[in-house]
Amino acid sequence: MTPTGWPSPSARFSNHSRNSGVRDTPDRVSWQYAPMAMTSAVKDELSRVEITKACCRKAEVSTILRFASGLHIISGHIVIEADLDAGATARRLRKDLFDIYGHDSDVTMVQPSGIRKGTRYLVRVVDGGEALARQTGIVDASGRPVRGLPPAIVAGGLCDCEAAWRGAFLAHGSLTEPGRSSSLEVTCPGPEAALALVGAARRMGIAAKSREVRGVDRVVIRDGDAISAMLTRLGAHESVMAWEERRMRREVRATANRLANFDDANLRRSARAAVAAGARVQRALEILGDEVPDHLVVAGRLRLEHQQASLEELGALADPPMTKDAIAGRIRRLLALADKRAQDLGIPDTESVLGPDMLEGDDV
Ligand SMILES: [Zn+2]
Repeated sequence: MTPTGWPSPSARFSNHSRNSGVRDTPDRVSWQYAPMAMTSAVKDELSRVEITKACCRKAEVSTILRFASGLHIISGHIVIEADLDAGATARRLRKDLFDIYGHDSDVTMVQPSGIRKGTRYLVRVVDGGEALARQTGIVDASGRPVRGLPPAIVAGGLCDCEAAWRGAFLAHGSLTEPGRSSSLEVTCPGPEAALALVGAARRMGIAAKSREVRGVDRVVIRDGDAISAMLTRLGAHESVMAWEERRMRREVRATANRLANFDDANLRRSARAAVAAGARVQRALEILGDEVPDHLVVAGRLRLEHQQASLEELGALADPPMTKDAIAGRIRRLLALADKRAQDLGIPDTESVLGPDMLEGDDV
């Protein structure tokens, strides 16, 4: 272990960022093409979310300190040391500590060794550690460490629930691939902190559960929609898009695998085409949002609600009924409109949701 003294806050971060996997230049949908672990992608994005309200910045800092730091007593003084896994998080924390509380901090980089895989960033406030602990509410008025979250957050606004979650995720969060065991998790410093986080999620209308595994308290969100909702609340908008896209791809793949067991080749082919069309329509509606004529939306929704139906059946389900050609034409126009818009915006088009095995067949 070779801790490196790191006196200057900003200058050296960029030199190290390449080694630590932390990017300096924002790059949209980057993890779709050059996948980095989803956890670091989310943290990277969160560390760049700009927050202007003082209450929110305070709630985030307090929670980062509560979840990632220890209070050390060094020759009678409280020293606060936050242990973080990303340089960008350390940089954000140091900036907020200075801007909001006027505290100088230093950061030490610790190289991976033994069971610790990644580089660690230790942000330390030596001078005025005690004052900072009180200001951020991680100790109470009589100097005792707070066990849950600081009262200012618990009693604060919804914005501060979001900020607290952002801080907690930056400190100790993780996100796994979409799938059967997908989860967004935060490792907590104790059961009270876990419960406080569950409560903050509940106020946002998001179901999270606390659980203790081998003496470690965690808060877990498993439902895919809830994970997306939380990422959105945190301000990780690029990550939500990437997460949703992976989720959809996975579903399409799973359905394709089920269909591969069909005996009849023709049936298989048309069922596969219907699933592909459904996935494309869903992506089209996402791309277009509100900017799409109603009659095209209606056709698209029919396709989504009746994925296995033939075009003839879809036409019959429409109100008033339509011919097979009319419904096919509307779905084609919807997809074309979305692809055109995706191209203009430089975002993945409707075909981006299809795997290579789904691209054959031109039936809508
Ligand atoms: Zn706030």
